[in-house]
Amino acid sequence: MQQISVLFPTPLGCYDYLSDTQLEVGTFVLAPFGKKKLIGIVWDKEPNTHIEKSKIKQILEILPFRPLPFETIQFVNWVSSYTLAPLGAVLKMALLTDFEKISKKPLIFQHPNPTHISLTFSQAQQNAIQIMTDQLERGFSVSLLDGVTGSGKTEVYFEALAQALKKDGQILVLLPEITLTTAWLERFEKRFGVKPALWHSGITQKQRRDTWNAILKGDAKVIVGARSALFLPYQKLNLIIVDEEHDSSFKQEDGVLYQARDMAVVRAKIAKCPIVLASATPSIESYCNVLAGKYIHIELPERFAGSCLPDIRLVDMRKKEKGPIQFISPELQLLIRENLHKKEQTLLFLNRRGYAPLLLCRSCGERIKCPHCTAWLVEHRKKNILQCHHCGYVMRIPKKCPTCEQEETLVSCGPGVERIHEEAHQLFPEASLSMVTSDTLNNPKEFEALLEKIKNNEIDILIGTQILAKGHHFSNLTLVGVIDADMGLSGGDLRAGERTFQLLHQVTGRAGREQKKGTAVLQTYVPDNLVIQSLQKNDKNTFIQEEIATRQILSMPPFGQLAAIILSGKNEQFVVEVGKKIVAAAPFLEGLDVLGPTPAPLALLRGKFRYRLLIKATKDIKLQNILNIWLAKVAIHSSVSVRIDINPYSFF
Ligand code: ADP
Ligand code: ZN
Repeated sequence: MQQISVLFPTPLGCYDYLSDTQLEVGTFVLAPFGKKKLIGIVWDKEPNTHIEKSKIKQILEILPFRPLPFETIQFVNWVSSYTLAPLGAVLKMALLTDFEKISKKPLIFQHPNPTHISLTFSQAQQNAIQIMTDQLERGFSVSLLDGVTGSGKTEVYFEALAQALKKDGQILVLLPEITLTTAWLERFEKRFGVKPALWHSGITQKQRRDTWNAILKGDAKVIVGARSALFLPYQKLNLIIVDEEHDSSFKQEDGVLYQARDMAVVRAKIAKCPIVLASATPSIESYCNVLAGKYIHIELPERFAGSCLPDIRLVDMRKKEKGPIQFISPELQLLIRENLHKKEQTLLFLNRRGYAPLLLCRSCGERIKCPHCTAWLVEHRKKNILQCHHCGYVMRIPKKCPTCEQEETLVSCGPGVERIHEEAHQLFPEASLSMVTSDTLNNPKEFEALLEKIKNNEIDILIGTQILAKGHHFSNLTLVGVIDADMGLSGGDLRAGERTFQLLHQVTGRAGREQKKGTAVLQTYVPDNLVIQSLQKNDKNTFIQEEIATRQILSMPPFGQLAAIILSGKNEQFVVEVGKKIVAAAPFLEGLDVLGPTPAPLALLRGKFRYRLLIKATKDIKLQNILNIWLAKVAIHSSVSVRIDINPYSFF
């Protein structure tokens, strides 16, 4: 009898079992667990020799799958030790939840054809392709493909992908979920003759099982997916591509808290293969790695076929005269009117759903809040509701103020896209308008129909949130109006400036993608702000240099380390006590600072009180080891949940 260690896809950890045959690490087994039978994986962990053999249970069955590849096991181990998430919780992301339903007649994944079509490339594009192809023969490396929107990054990494296809093995392309559109897939199919294997939240359970199984068997060659595709059981990876590498949606904010772009680099290192990070506005972290000589920098400075970047104009909103509020400034109105004349399309961008972000009582000053969260309720006038965008709480729009009970005193404060739509309709009654938000995306058929209408020029003015900013090219769209360019700048968030720069660069880049010159308007109250100035001058370098310098002075990532500890629970007293105990148990260490506990900006979320601690550490400190030892010493009340967020991206 052989004693083995088995890991289950639950937060429990490894357990020892006996088996009468020699089992390879990675083998899928069915084992008794309490009264249940669970599927687990034979893990690369030394069995515990101190347990009496008679007390160890025997496994029940060996399941008929190829063993989980050792690289996946190494990766799960790595992610768990970095994020401090339980091993089993990480393993869960690599497995299916319904193995028993794997079909005998799976979908067939056809091999993409690397020579299906061929393009002629510009000199800069050829150089980029050459560098990336060379890396395919050299084991692990990271390349940052840094090129303005429309410079051909996608076409260029498709070439690297085509070269990688000529070798054995698999290729993974990671995209933010909202970029993973039909349009992107059609492009892939046009280039390679077939569709890639897909992995994202929208695929069916059957597709999920078939895809997972085809990847494990090595039958699926190219996998295109959202961040969770990183954990699939690849037999052999040849190349990883992360497109829109700066996108903050690569950070998973629930369950296991991981940054998929960073973990993709780790995954490539384990696979000993190259990885390409592509973006028009790379993250500060990636630039720092270029400066440190760790990443290869590949630049595509010009738009393909000479179409030029839009002309960016600022509208200083401080100078606006008092009067009836208009969110679309006269300058922008004029440009829209001209555009309507030319029969060209306009996009009005505001990253806020609903009609108004809050309702205020003119009589008593009450702002209507969510009863379960520290947040205002957002007015959705079309649906006649007030909604909490954090917990989903909904109420009808009241006729009188809930506090002072006066009638007709509630006024809408500030704009959401619905309100901009209303204003645009009043200003341009003859124009055909369409509003696009994530609610529109929930209905893919309707969304496709809308895209078709845009293509056919049946729409003059689009009003939308960031859904429209990403991944769509509209050839007749020549004007972009950003209603509130400052929206993302406030708040103490470390990456606020960076994120605003990236988002607005992308949004304004929607204007004039083809031969027609585009114009973008930024409405702002802080025209002198570095972010706004850099956007207007199209001067990415100054922005990046200043941003890097600031982070360096403040020892912020990537120059120092951060970890957040988020405590939450129904009983505020207990939450505060746990916070104090954690601080009391903190090790005294040079280069380690503990800030807090303080009430989180979202101090109440879904009826739970939230407190935060922020740990700052210099780079030489082994933060995960310290946190492990430190938190193990603290007795935590069972009603309080403790989450650790290594290198946090959200601070609310
Ligand atoms: P990016 O990913 O940098 O935004 P794309 O790869 O989407 O750029 O390229 C922008 C547009 O230019 C696309 O329509 C693309 O097909 C076209 N394009 C880019 N490079 C070439 C090329 N070498 N030959 C033909 N078309 C190209
Ligand atoms: Zn709420």
